[in-house]
Amino acid sequence: MILAELDQSVRELKGVGPAAARSLARLGISAQRDLLLHLPRAYEDRVTRVSIAESLSGRTCNTVAEVVAHDYIGRGAQQTLKVYVRDESATAALACFGRNFLGSRLPPGLKIRLAAQFSYRYGEPQASAFEFEAADAPPRHFGRILAVYPLTDGLSQALLRSAVDQVLRGPVRHIEDVVPPELRRQRQSAPIGASLRRVHQPESLADAESARRSLAYEELLVLQLRLRERLLMRSRAVRPSRTLPLALQQRAADALPFDLTADQRTVLSEIHNDMQHDRPMARLLQGDVGCGKTLVALLSALTPIEAGGQAVLMAPTELLARQHAENAVRLLEPLGVRVVLLTGSVNVRARRPLLNALAGGEIDLVIGTHAVFSESTRFHDLRYVIVDEQHRFGVVQRAAVLQKGSNPDLLLMTATPIPRTLALTLFGDMETSTIRTMPPGRKPVHTHLARLSNEDKVYARVRRELAAGRQAYFVYPLIDPNDRSELRNAETMFERLRDDVFSAFEAALVHSRVPEEEKLRRMKAFQTGTVQLLVATSVIEVGVDVPNATCMVVEHAERFGLAALHQLRGRVGRGKLQSYAFLVYADDLSEEAKQRLRVLHKTSDGFAIAEQDLQIRGPGDLVGLRQSGFLRLHAADLSRDQELLIAARDDAAALRSADPELLSHPLLTRVLSAHERLEGLAL
Ligand code: ADP
Ligand code: MG
Repeated sequence: MILAELDQSVRELKGVGPAAARSLARLGISAQRDLLLHLPRAYEDRVTRVSIAESLSGRTCNTVAEVVAHDYIGRGAQQTLKVYVRDESATAALACFGRNFLGSRLPPGLKIRLAAQFSYRYGEPQASAFEFEAADAPPRHFGRILAVYPLTDGLSQALLRSAVDQVLRGPVRHIEDVVPPELRRQRQSAPIGASLRRVHQPESLADAESARRSLAYEELLVLQLRLRERLLMRSRAVRPSRTLPLALQQRAADALPFDLTADQRTVLSEIHNDMQHDRPMARLLQGDVGCGKTLVALLSALTPIEAGGQAVLMAPTELLARQHAENAVRLLEPLGVRVVLLTGSVNVRARRPLLNALAGGEIDLVIGTHAVFSESTRFHDLRYVIVDEQHRFGVVQRAAVLQKGSNPDLLLMTATPIPRTLALTLFGDMETSTIRTMPPGRKPVHTHLARLSNEDKVYARVRRELAAGRQAYFVYPLIDPNDRSELRNAETMFERLRDDVFSAFEAALVHSRVPEEEKLRRMKAFQTGTVQLLVATSVIEVGVDVPNATCMVVEHAERFGLAALHQLRGRVGRGKLQSYAFLVYADDLSEEAKQRLRVLHKTSDGFAIAEQDLQIRGPGDLVGLRQSGFLRLHAADLSRDQELLIAARDDAAALRSADPELLSHPLLTRVLSAHERLEGLAL
C-alpha cells in the first residue's frame, strides 16, 4: 500500500530548509522515503564505555568525566582554551581551538558525558575533536548508537539524524511488508518498518547489522522475484521438443587443426540440449579472452543451420564483426554454409542484394553490427541469436533482433568474468556456461608493474621484442592533450614513440575518433605486421587478435579498472610466444592503488580479478558501465551477502506466483528502478 506521507518532500521536515534540500537532492534524496533508504555508512557506539586511557590506542572514548581545570595555550588574541578533564583512568586535555566560549559551559567541577578522539601530544592525552553533554541531564546524544551517514556539502550528521528521526516517528510503522510472514520467520527477517527503524537507530551494533540483513534480504528477494517473473514468462512452451542434428557441427570440429577443450565440448552439448527443449534457450557464456568462446558460438550455430534455419552473430564493433566473419568463412564455407557480413560500412548498393538473399533464405549465417537491428534487415527463418560482448548492447537492441525470428534461441557471450553474486542478480533468469581452461600451449603472460619514471626500462624491454620481430600495443587513458589533464594521451605519445623512442619501427594510432575506414586500414597493417607498434586507447580492449603481438604496455594503468586491464592483457599471449604486460603507473600512486594493481601481477584468473574488482569498486564498473551508483543496492552488498542472495533466489523460486503487490511495494520502487536500468544488461 502506498503511503502518501512517504512521498512528501523532505522540505516538510523541521530543520530542512531550501539549502539543505538542495544538498540532499545531490544525494538523490527528495522524498521522505528516499531519506529512509539513505542508510548509515557506519555507526558510532555511544553505549559501550571506553575510558580515556583505553581510547589512547585509537578508539573513540565514551566516558563520564569531571572538569578539573582550565589552562591556555599561546598568548594574547591567539590564546586557545584547554579544558582538563578526568575520569577514573586518566586526566586529559580538550583543546578548544576557536571555541574559547566553551569555557563557560565547562566550569571546573562539572560532570560531563564525553566522546573524544584522544592522542598523546606534548606529553599528555589531548583531543580537539570532542562532543559532550552535562551528565546530570537526561542523555540526548549518549547512551545510544548513532548513525553516521554519507554526507555532501551543506549537510551535517545532526541534520540527517534529526530528519530521519522525524520520518521514523511518522508513517514508517504503517509500512506493509514485502516478505510473507512465514518466510520472514524462517529467514529471521524482521518486518520492514522495524528494520528501517533499527538500521537508523539501533540498540547495538549487532542490532544494526541484523536490521541491515533483513533489509538486504528483502531487497534481494524483490530482485529475484522480478527475474523469476521474466523466467516464467519465457519458460512457456512455444515449440515442440525435438531432436536436432549434429552432423555438420561434428564435421566442422573434425576439420579443426586442434582438439576442442573439455570445457568447449561441455558447453556445446549444453547448448545443443537447450535447443532441443520446447522453450527457447537463454544462456550466458562466460570465459576469459581467448578461451575459445567465438569458436563454440560458430560451431553451435551449425545445429539450427543444419536443421534449415538461420543464425545471427552480433558483434559490438566493425572490427570485431570483420574478424568473426573471416573466421566463420574459413571454418564454415568449406562445409557449404553461406555466411555474410552485415555492417554499417557495407554500402547501400551492396546491401540490397544481400538483404534480399537473407529474406529469401539463401543465407545461413549473418555476422553483423548494429546494422542488423535495422528494420530493413529481414530473415527467412531466424532461429538463433548470438550476442558477443553482450554488455555493449542495450536490451532494446537485443529485443529487436530476437523479434526478427519466432522465439529464437539466445546465447549471450562475455569475456568480462562476472562474479557469482552479480551474475545471479543480472542474469538470474538465464542458464550459464563457463569456459575456465585455455586451449593448450598458451604461455601465461608475464605481468610487470613499473613507475612512469622507470619507463626507459620498459621501453628497452619492448625494443628487444620488436627487434626480434614481435609487435607491441601501447594503451593510454586519453585520446589527445585537449583533455586538460596531466595524464599522458595517445596522440602525443604516438608522436614521441614513433619519432624518438622507436624510430626504427613503424607505428600506427587508433582511437574512437579515427574514422572507421582508416581505423580498419591501420588495424589491418598491424595484423599483417607492416606496423609493429599500435598506440591506442582502450578501444582495442575487445576482440583484436594478433598472435605475434607479445607486449602490452598500459600507461597510467591506475586509471583503468582491474577488469579492463585484464581484458587488455588478454590481447597478448594469444599465440605460442611468451608475452608480457607492463602496467605503468603514475609516480605518486597511493599504496592502496598499487595494491590493486598487484592483484593483476599475482593472478591471471579473470574470475578472481572480477571478485576483487567487485569488492574494491562496486559492481557498476565491472559490467562495463562507468556511472557510479548504477547498480548500487541500498542494504544489500553483493560482495558480502552471497548467502542471503542464494536464500532470496531459492525463496523467489518457491513463491510460485509472485504477488503483484509485492513487486510494487512503495519503498522498493527505487530498488526496482535501479534494476530496470540493469535490464540494459540482462534480458
Ligand atoms: P574468445 O572468443 O573466447 O576470445 P576465440 O574463439 O576467438 O576466443 O579463440 C581464440 C583463439 O584460440 C582463436 O585463434 C581460436 O582459433 C583458438 N582456439 C579456440 N579453441 C581452441 C582449442 N581448443 N585449441 C587450440 N586453439 C583454439
Ligand atoms: Mg571472442
